[in-house]
Amino acid sequence: MVLPASLRAAFGAALTGVFVAVAAPAAAQEQVLNLYSARHYQTDEALYQDFTRRTGIRINRIEAGDEPLLERLRTEGARSPADVLLLVDAARLWKAQIDGLFQPVKSALLDARIPTHLRGKDDGQGSEWYGFSTRARIIVYNKNKLKADDVRDYEDLAKPSLKGQVCTRSGAHPYMLSLIGAMSEHLGEAGAEQWARGVVGNFARPPRGGDTDQIKAVAVGECGVALTNSYYLVRVMRSDKAEDKQAMASIGIVWPNQKSWGTHVNVSGGGVTKNAPHREAAIKFLEYLASDSAQVYLADGNNEWPVVKTAVTKNPVLDELGPFKADTLSIASIGRAQITASKIIDRAGWR
Ligand code: FE
Repeated sequence: MVLPASLRAAFGAALTGVFVAVAAPAAAQEQVLNLYSARHYQTDEALYQDFTRRTGIRINRIEAGDEPLLERLRTEGARSPADVLLLVDAARLWKAQIDGLFQPVKSALLDARIPTHLRGKDDGQGSEWYGFSTRARIIVYNKNKLKADDVRDYEDLAKPSLKGQVCTRSGAHPYMLSLIGAMSEHLGEAGAEQWARGVVGNFARPPRGGDTDQIKAVAVGECGVALTNSYYLVRVMRSDKAEDKQAMASIGIVWPNQKSWGTHVNVSGGGVTKNAPHREAAIKFLEYLASDSAQVYLADGNNEWPVVKTAVTKNPVLDELGPFKADTLSIASIGRAQITASKIIDRAGWR
């Protein structure tokens, strides 16, 4: 394998840092896998080492944010050394798909283990990707300002009675684009736009910050209600810091839309890259990610849920949130719907 100098340096650094203990026997022909990942959690390390131990395939990793990774792949083009690309959120996975960054994968094992609605297949693009862990987009509210009954559903965020109460991140962020895309699938484009206009009319402040910032703004009463991905909330719930404990004391949590289509669920996932030099190793790695043990590593690393039903996590704080009805809208259609979602946020002024 010949890598550009910049990549050689990056892979070299990853190797010395992580893979010294799991080097393959000197006599064996070295098998490698080049992984581009937007995930970077502590348990991922154990996951990669476990894969190498089981298969003898060494993993070279490039870890970066989703956008820099996508940019890098586009720049490298057909000469990219990447074999597998892992990203978070259907909006980004779908974007990578239509940019032609993935290739088809024929795997009976993946087809059997990953639920159909959590795959990015059959988009007429000849490429595919798979969800490997799930997260939910939930409502948090300030218990001094609102009651749970005020904010049972996503639609409630547009109610005139919530004027000045809604904190949000930019509608242009993939987490929001996916949710707004899902809303357009359920309500139709016009219905979703009307909803978005209602939400914008209820802003407590212009959109800013990430999900954790919304949780904190709700906790201090800067606003009455906000949306967050479940794992950010669980991080605050698991924190020992006094300010986080104080925040949790003033926050109420709602699983949205339990009486209708269910709470919006998204994925982290990935696929085999278009020009993967080590295609077989790449498929083996994806199949490994669908194993029960890898599913637990992946889910626990970021307080998420496995996609494979037989994988069982033990995460008491996450479990404290209780069971919920999840939206079963296909993640592929949520990805596709972000074109509509982008138009909606522009027209509604949710940037
Ligand atoms: Fe996130």
